[in-house]
Amino acid sequence: MKNKELILKLDKEKSLEKPEWITLFETADDEDREMARHLAQKIAKEQFGNRIYMRGLIEISNICKNDCLYCGIRKSNCNVSRYRMTKTQIFECCEIGYKSGFRTFVLQGGEDGHFTDDILTEIVSGIKEKFPDCAITLSLGERSRESYEKLFKAGADRYLLRHETATREHYDKLHPENLSLENRMECLKNLKEIGFQTGCGMMIGSPYQTAENLANDMLFLEEFKPHMIGIGPFLPAENTPFEKEKAGSLEETLFVLSLVRIMLPNVLLPATTALGTLSKDGRQRAILSGANVMMPNISPTENRKNYALYNDKIGTGEDAEKSVENVVNSLKEIGYEPTVARGDYKEN
Ligand code: SAH
Repeated sequence: MKNKELILKLDKEKSLEKPEWITLFETADDEDREMARHLAQKIAKEQFGNRIYMRGLIEISNICKNDCLYCGIRKSNCNVSRYRMTKTQIFECCEIGYKSGFRTFVLQGGEDGHFTDDILTEIVSGIKEKFPDCAITLSLGERSRESYEKLFKAGADRYLLRHETATREHYDKLHPENLSLENRMECLKNLKEIGFQTGCGMMIGSPYQTAENLANDMLFLEEFKPHMIGIGPFLPAENTPFEKEKAGSLEETLFVLSLVRIMLPNVLLPATTALGTLSKDGRQRAILSGANVMMPNISPTENRKNYALYNDKIGTGEDAEKSVENVVNSLKEIGYEPTVARGDYKEN
């Protein structure tokens, strides 16, 4: 089948066979990608109109016990100056975010042992008490099922945990020995069962990634049916084993976004910061390729440069107001509008 027919088949059946995915990733040309983009944009418009959900991202700690080979804040990077926000600082951030219109706060960070279940449940329930009309998303890595249950009970609504790659051999090349795809997947399964709106996702163009790996990612997404999917290009981070590797491609990342939108019409799909870092109009082009969520950084300015997952991350010199203004303007430029709605996942 020609690539265009494969894309039409995906639209109709919401599914492709593994060899078909591999063909698409290996042989798609600009025209095929353009066709996928048009279709994805149309589907996103049918689902969400020209409204883009806004999430305020708070990077609560860059302390991490893990040593993921790609990540700039990995444990063994001793050039990072480490910080951890206090509960009061986190509340203050939410306050500022609330006033700017955010109704979702995303608390992201490294796997920092300080954030025990007790401390986190206090933070989550505290935010919920002050801002009962807001959703809380956590993105704090792998925890036990009991821990996830406590956080859910405390009021957390959503959890982001990218699977990074759905192929075991590839996963092992990106992570130290003590981390496994099996455990990552177990966490994702637990999160979904507990009732979180659950997000997974992958980097595009990470070292050693093949078309077959991407095909496995698409098959996993089809089967797992996540509520949210974070997709961004791999970007090298200095002082990591992958510092000399080349960045993922903008076109490839946008193509994957389009295909995901075609396969899962109602999924929540952010235009990620990594895409905005790779290219000035990366996030705008992501929206035009089917993304429907923006996550401007509302972290305190002084912490931002230290939450460097990869080189040259955008927004590190800005405050929350500026980051929000940039995102809102970039949306308006392409005819989209930010919405203050909580933007929960809705079954079709
Ligand atoms: N500790 C949390 C949050 C990780 S940071 C967790 O384990 O989920 C969020 C995401 O940033 C990661 O899941 C990864 O996909 C992405 N990321 C990390 N380093 C990156 C890099 N060098 N290039 C692109 N994305 C990266």
